[in-house]
Amino acid sequence: MARTIITGGTVVTAADQMSADVLIEDEKIVALAAPGSHEWSADQTIDATGKYVIPGGIDVHTHMELPFGGTFASDTFETGTRAAAWGGTTTIVDFAVQTKGQGLMEGFEAWQEKASGQCAIDYGFHLIVGDVNEQTLKEMETAFAEGVTSFKMFMAYPGVFYSDDGQIFRAMQKAAENGSTIMMHAENGIAIDVLVEQALQRGETDPIHHGIVRKSILEGEATHRAIKLAELAESPLYIVHLSALEALEEVTIARDQGLNVFAETCPQYLLLGLDDLGNQFEGAKYVCSPPLRDWDAGHQEELWRGLRGNDLQVISTDHCPFCMDEFDGLIAQKRLGEGDFSKIPNGMPGVEPRMELIHQAGVVEGKISLSRWVELCSTAPAKMFGLYPDKGTIAVGSDADVVIFDPNASKVISVDNQHMRVDYSAYEDWEVTGIVDTVLSRGRVVVDGDEYRGEAGHGRYLKRGLNQYVM
Ligand SMILES: [Zn+2]
Repeated sequence: MARTIITGGTVVTAADQMSADVLIEDEKIVALAAPGSHEWSADQTIDATGKYVIPGGIDVHTHMELPFGGTFASDTFETGTRAAAWGGTTTIVDFAVQTKGQGLMEGFEAWQEKASGQCAIDYGFHLIVGDVNEQTLKEMETAFAEGVTSFKMFMAYPGVFYSDDGQIFRAMQKAAENGSTIMMHAENGIAIDVLVEQALQRGETDPIHHGIVRKSILEGEATHRAIKLAELAESPLYIVHLSALEALEEVTIARDQGLNVFAETCPQYLLLGLDDLGNQFEGAKYVCSPPLRDWDAGHQEELWRGLRGNDLQVISTDHCPFCMDEFDGLIAQKRLGEGDFSKIPNGMPGVEPRMELIHQAGVVEGKISLSRWVELCSTAPAKMFGLYPDKGTIAVGSDADVVIFDPNASKVISVDNQHMRVDYSAYEDWEVTGIVDTVLSRGRVVVDGDEYRGEAGHGRYLKRGLNQYVM
């Protein structure tokens, strides 16, 4: 049996902050004790004096190798989970995809194949439902038995991932039978496509127009519609990557009514804005959907308020990187949309800097508390997607997914020091105080300062339970 002691640190969970030593045996946390109160012996001792000891980050929204717009997201499960580990994230939940004409479980198996033997950290899957029919609805039960308890649908991307209201409603009714959660990309894609066509006809082809045509009111409208359909079907609903104050307003109302409605936002919607899409084609780096929002309209400020008041429960990344130029054997993916913003692959890199960015912008800059940071980035995602308390906390019996975080050290974020497989950082030259120091995944040190000690294949597939917030 391998025993590890983490000594001298401040254990921070969603609920508590305490001086405590942590004893790990093999893959589990087996004891916490006041420093000096025990006589534990161990094979290795990690000194966390002056540092936080937090549960590993959980990113419940990633897209490794996602096929999109004629190319694939540039991180593989191997490179993407390694980058996640570097950033203090020890679990991802990625999206397996059912494409049109394919069975739901075919998508699940294809993604299992991609991830198997590749991941540095533990991983689970949601399923993107791309083709609702009788077989799909039956297969939602099969998927559930395999530990997929959440299904994502799209009100955006007509002709690709889009489902109409009837398809959405049927899937929600099915989800209600066993308590699965429906995750919704809530943008009115039919109306957006009209605006896209009109913009292109006017010769508006630069990336900034991606941000202009995808109106926030259309995110609000779709969010409202999704909530009403879920209310009627009595299924839990989770709005992914919420970016607009109009959408937050709908979620807030629904939650005040006691509905099982939840939502996440992402660092890019809190920290970046429509302006970033300017500067001609450089803005392509910031093309994602929903788009980055206008600072003047106050979206970002409202999202922070939502995070503080629990109208938003989770911060994930929607990590979906595409290269600007040729890089590491990849084509210049974003340049597929030169001359037509609607052809720019949608997505941004983000799985690596999330913990540090939110610590800086949230905790250091006084917008959320230290415990709320842990809750938003680890504990709540674990509870929302049926992984708690194995994941998401520092407690006796939990998996030893632990990050030692140095709140006093700082660094400058840059493409030159990141590990994601992409040729830019959306946060180039941003300075953060508070950085990831040491990372353990199920008791194994995977990141030790500047040294990577992880291994492809260490990460295990996680069968997930139900959303633990549902009443
Ligand atoms: Zn996504």
